[in-house]
Amino acid sequence: MTTRYELTRDGLTELLDGEPRYRLDQLWEGLYTHLADPVDITNLPKSLRARLDAELPLALQPVTESVSDRGDTVKFLWELDGGSRVETVLMLYSDRATVCVSSQAGCAMGCGFCATGQAGFTRHLTVGEIVEQVVRAAQRARRLDRRVSNIVFMGMGEPMANLDAVWAATERFHGDLGLSARHITISTVGVIPGIRSLKDRSLPVNLAVSLHAANDTLRDDLVPINRRYPIDDLMAACADYLQVKHRRVSFEWAMIEGVNDRDSDARELAALCRRLSPHGHVNLIPLNPTPGYPTTGSSPKRVEEFRDLLDSFGANATVRRNRGTDIDAACGQLAAGQPVVLTRRR
Ligand code: SAH
Ligand code: SF4
Repeated sequence: MTTRYELTRDGLTELLDGEPRYRLDQLWEGLYTHLADPVDITNLPKSLRARLDAELPLALQPVTESVSDRGDTVKFLWELDGGSRVETVLMLYSDRATVCVSSQAGCAMGCGFCATGQAGFTRHLTVGEIVEQVVRAAQRARRLDRRVSNIVFMGMGEPMANLDAVWAATERFHGDLGLSARHITISTVGVIPGIRSLKDRSLPVNLAVSLHAANDTLRDDLVPINRRYPIDDLMAACADYLQVKHRRVSFEWAMIEGVNDRDSDARELAALCRRLSPHGHVNLIPLNPTPGYPTTGSSPKRVEEFRDLLDSFGANATVRRNRGTDIDAACGQLAAGQPVVLTRRR
């Protein structure tokens, strides 16, 4: 059986076969403008509401909902059909409300410092499962009188490894939920064919690349997929993306004490940023603790110093405020509360 947000407008048309045509608009508006359950779309006849409720079940079963930052960060843990679990995070800021969505249950890319990578890959999410994460978070935001304005694919999984579903969901965010493409960011560990494919798709979404190291020796170690897609080729793909889309490319940099926070790292990273036009922008995130990785994050002081160094080498960087570290909702901590395969040697 299909789930509620799996169907496009055409799919809903088929489901309403035999009903007057205006019912489609009523259903669509109910689902996507009012974020309502079919049973509550009161301009539909009662019998139709009951049928739709039965034929369009939800895909995500809530397991827990944790709140931190005085209510400004909400982490949802969901169980999917088949039993695997994924997380979604809603972050409320004064000027925007961002939903961080998962694209896969687990991840096959094996970055050692990332809780999702430590847990390994379970399965891809469907379009409906991705769209539903945003709708459910948007319903929560609405209860607080807020509207979701931004979406980042920075939850569990590597979006480029599930690009067809990720892209179909992106088109639905744009078309059904009315989000601007400029407010949607796809984050990748650097899967070049995905970046190249994204370049040829219609919507100008933001691209974030999780770089974490600016030379191949270190990056091969931190981000194993670098052995297949090394930095030079990755930078060329980013440059092409920029040229076609005119969107800013940002680099994510999880700061690991003594590993990638040295002066030489700042110099090499700034050189990579300057290769792009306009320059790549760096987001610095102090490494969040995960059970399977022995090294710790850089101190707040070192993060500031590193940002100033980047600045002095001609690269712009922002220090990202950590949200939800106390509820394991911060970058790379998703899945940290579940059993993981420890990679640390005994
Ligand atoms: N797979 C994609 C998107 C999800 S990860 C990617 O890697 O880009 C979201 C971000 O969290 C990535 O930038 C990732 O590198 C970062 N991250 C992973 N583990 C982290 C940790 N322990 N501390 C801080 N950031 C981490
Ligand atoms: Fe996967 Fe991204 Fe985690 Fe690497 S950092 S394991 S690509 S989710």
